[in-house]
Amino acid sequence: MRHAVDIAGPLQRVSETIAAAARQVGRDPSDVLLVAVSKTHPVEAIEAALAAGQRVFGENRVQEAQGKYPALRRSVPELRLHLIGPLQTNKVRSALGLFDVIQSLDRPKLAAAFAEIRASGAPIPDLMIQVNTGLEPQKAGIAPAEAIAFVRHCKDGLALPVVGLMCIPPAAEDPVPHFALLRELGRETGLRNLSMGMSHDYEAAVRMGATVVRLGTAIFGSRATPVPAGDAAIAP
Ligand SMILES: *Cc1c(COP(=O)(O)O)cnc(C)c1O
Repeated sequence: MRHAVDIAGPLQRVSETIAAAARQVGRDPSDVLLVAVSKTHPVEAIEAALAAGQRVFGENRVQEAQGKYPALRRSVPELRLHLIGPLQTNKVRSALGLFDVIQSLDRPKLAAAFAEIRASGAPIPDLMIQVNTGLEPQKAGIAPAEAIAFVRHCKDGLALPVVGLMCIPPAAEDPVPHFALLRELGRETGLRNLSMGMSHDYEAAVRMGATVVRLGTAIFGSRATPVPAGDAAIAP
């Protein structure tokens, strides 16, 4: 390996922190899936995480994931990859073979693209619907008031494999009300998977019922170039 990256230590610490937060509220720690967000980090860092036993990863750009993951997937068949960033409709087909879960189903046009592919007989990865809980204009996602109708449309209307909800609370706000809102929408839609919680707020997210946390910095250290969390502009 080119450089020794200590990933095992941070992984161990975040797993313990997740377990402690879960137990505080009477939850089973194994009900929380840790997605290691490797965006901007090199393959060596991912290999170090794999060596430490981590198997589930997240990337926010299709192209970057295409450059890093196909070879890793061939050598570690149990590796699972989640897309956590915006997906352009013209990249849907290339995303299909690469990602096991797409957490960022954020607009009707993308749902229609998945439905078209499904109609052609191709398998669709598990999907999570991204909810813009803070109604931030620059952020992707379905408005909370439209979320229930959109879930029904995707699940019942288009027969898509929707398994949960995802949110990225506004950076400058207390995330807890946003986690509470996502949990309530999960309850109302019968979706039990909630992807919420990043490096700075995952303990609170686990206490609020997160079943998926997405951690980059807490595992891999800080990123060289700041990448906005799912903020890339998408034409409607
Ligand atoms: C980058 C990113 C994360 C991880 O952020 P950290 O603060 O480094 O843990 C989580 N979710 C999304 C959508 C991201 O883009």
